[in-house]
Amino acid sequence: VNTIIAVVMLCGGVYVMQLEFARNLDQAREIRIALANREFELFYQPQVDETGRLMGAEALLRWKKADGSYAPPIDFIPLAEQAGLMPAIGGWVVLEACKTLALWQQEEGARDLVLSINVSVDQFMKPDFVASVLSRIEALKVDPARLKLELTESLMATDIDTIVEKMRALRAAGLTISLDDFGTGYSSLSYLRQLPIHEIKIDRSFVQEAPENLRNRFLLKSIFDIARMLDLSVVAEGIETKEQFVFLQSFGCTEFQGYYFGRPMPLADFQKHWAQDSAPPLAETA
Ligand code: C2E
Ligand code: MG
Ligand code: MG
Ligand code: MG
Repeated sequence: VNTIIAVVMLCGGVYVMQLEFARNLDQAREIRIALANREFELFYQPQVDETGRLMGAEALLRWKKADGSYAPPIDFIPLAEQAGLMPAIGGWVVLEACKTLALWQQEEGARDLVLSINVSVDQFMKPDFVASVLSRIEALKVDPARLKLELTESLMATDIDTIVEKMRALRAAGLTISLDDFGTGYSSLSYLRQLPIHEIKIDRSFVQEAPENLRNRFLLKSIFDIARMLDLSVVAEGIETKEQFVFLQSFGCTEFQGYYFGRPMPLADFQKHWAQDSAPPLAETA
């Protein structure tokens, strides 16, 4: 009897796995079609300096559904990663970001804005990644100094020499390299020693911890001290309140991003709210 039960359970398990597998295949197919049908869109979230002045934006991927709603990355990026689709999607992001930068370069108030894009590990590790980014930049006549690439520590699970070599090539071409979600991976410090990056983005978990948390304070202070000594810029992300803004300023932070300054929004809204109206919005909220 036990054997029969085991066999039934095993078959059931395999059946569920097949269902799961089929569903993932369907979803991967949907993502492929979405890319071909231009259903992806970039949203833009403002990045400001300590006075609230607009410095640039982070481009964040959204999937526009048939009903007009937007799906966030958490709903499709993990699957796209599994299906090996991130290099293709990321290639589209690079192209779209370059188009936006080309547009901004034509506008008086937007000319100096820096646009950050997120780059997945798979995408970065493609042998032609550097060449493909540089050729986009050249084709669209984009100033490379206006494009920033955000990479996460998950990259470090791969070959460090290759990463360093690619980063150097991008740097040499004038691009900016940022280490995203800083402090959430492991061995961050040893990577800081090796990687030719310009900037770290402190993860929002540090920003959103209560200011009374002494350990968090000490950690933040150490991060800013290290960054200063290594000549790295620091961006604080996930700023939702004025208190968090002031708190991070107290460490000498000079670049900020978060709902307090603006949510990710479609390009048209971003231009309306920020590029044309150069008055710092903090004048109203502060
Ligand atoms: P990320 O690069 O760390 O982006 C910041 C995330 O924090 C964004 O979530 C943003 O909407 C959210 N955020 C910004 N300010 C606040 C705030 O004040 N409070 C809170 N609670 N959240 C805030 P989003 O847009 O859902 O993106 C999630 C992640 O998906 C990104 O994290 C990034 O890792 C990934 N991602 C987004 N777009 C792309 C892309 O084009 N390519 C790749 N490879 N990954 C992307
Ligand atoms: Mg990012
Ligand atoms: Mg982040
Ligand atoms: Mg992230």
